[in-house]
Amino acid sequence: MSNKYVLVINSGSSSLKFAVIDSQTGEAALTGLGECFGLEDSRMSWKYQGNKQEVSIVGEENHHQLAVKKLVDIVNEYNLTNDVIAIGHRIVHGGEKFTKTVQIDQQVLKDIESVKELAPLHAPANVIGIKAALEAFPSLPQFAVFDTAFHQTMPPKAYTGAIDKKLYDEYAIRRYGFHGTSHYFVSREAAKMINKPVDECSFISVHLGNGASVCAIKDGKSVDTSMGFTPLAGLMMGTRCGDLDPGIIEFLINKGWSAEKVFDTLNKKSGFLGVSGLTSDARGVLEAMEEGHEGAKLAFQVFTYRVAKYIGSYMVALDNLDGIIFTGGIGENSLPIRSEILNYLKIFGYKENAQADADARFGEEGIITTEDSPVAMVIPTNEEFVIAQESVALMK
Ligand code: ADP
Repeated sequence: MSNKYVLVINSGSSSLKFAVIDSQTGEAALTGLGECFGLEDSRMSWKYQGNKQEVSIVGEENHHQLAVKKLVDIVNEYNLTNDVIAIGHRIVHGGEKFTKTVQIDQQVLKDIESVKELAPLHAPANVIGIKAALEAFPSLPQFAVFDTAFHQTMPPKAYTGAIDKKLYDEYAIRRYGFHGTSHYFVSREAAKMINKPVDECSFISVHLGNGASVCAIKDGKSVDTSMGFTPLAGLMMGTRCGDLDPGIIEFLINKGWSAEKVFDTLNKKSGFLGVSGLTSDARGVLEAMEEGHEGAKLAFQVFTYRVAKYIGSYMVALDNLDGIIFTGGIGENSLPIRSEILNYLKIFGYKENAQADADARFGEEGIITTEDSPVAMVIPTNEEFVIAQESVALMK
């Protein structure tokens, strides 16, 4: 190993994903996941040179802190310490304060903490991750890469809610958008694919994973995106509802539901899971649909129709369109979902190239439309690679 590796830490509300990434190629030397933090079966697994290992995370301390300690042991065990030149943290919410990647110092840490209110589930975990890593690797420069930063170029007409302006002035309520590193990465890769400078390119980037969002990109910059003040807005997702009439919330509260129960339902029991009544996992939904499961069929229909409606509406945000980009676990792999979405877009002239669409799966990129059609393509995302690259770029 040469010394161009970055330790990427993605500290979620009850998990910690990590990877040691080559900042030049994106190749991962080590990948791992700590999950179920706060629960009895809290555990951590990792893969190094094809070997997978797993341990329980148990102890008196906070599970995030224990996980970072374990991560230090793992990095030491494989003698990676000398090869890692920086640490890059994925930070979910940067509010309006952070428009790009920054090196972490005490002030930055304070500013990230001050955004806590906007991301109550994620920000505290992000802060614990940073503090634990600062303690464990005091000599390494550390960087914060924000999910929201790429969307800070949205114009006021895209980020302003149609509500009393005082709510923005007082509480900073507005659209922020998430998945920024993914939309950023795939738009750069798409520009390379069509041989055009990215700052002259316009795309509609469609990230479909457990979380899902669409982003309108003009001249390489985000000009609109479907997630909002929180990641609950926009598309239907694995367990999240996406766009919804806020009157439903009042209705349920009047029926005696607590606010907590309402939002637990909208965040964790909706989306693919809620509509299918079966699973939050798109693959499971597709398999059940094949077997004739009515709920799964409806979930597939609601999901694809809503994605297509978003793509259609984002045409308005752009002057021209160089391509629709599909990415994320579903966007990269699910042929029936992509085919159905393209089918809805026939009105805009899109024609699927069935063979090319079937080929662009499981890590393969490609253009999936015919030569006489506007372009749609598949680009596998790599958020960890962006975090590694951004960190190293700032070191220079
Ligand atoms: P996350 O948002 O958690 O990073 P991913 O981007 O990994 O999620 O996407 C997870 C989703 O991708 C799941 O719904 C999973 O079923 C779906 N997925 C992965 N592979 C396939 C496949 N071959 N066909 C259909 N869906 C798939």
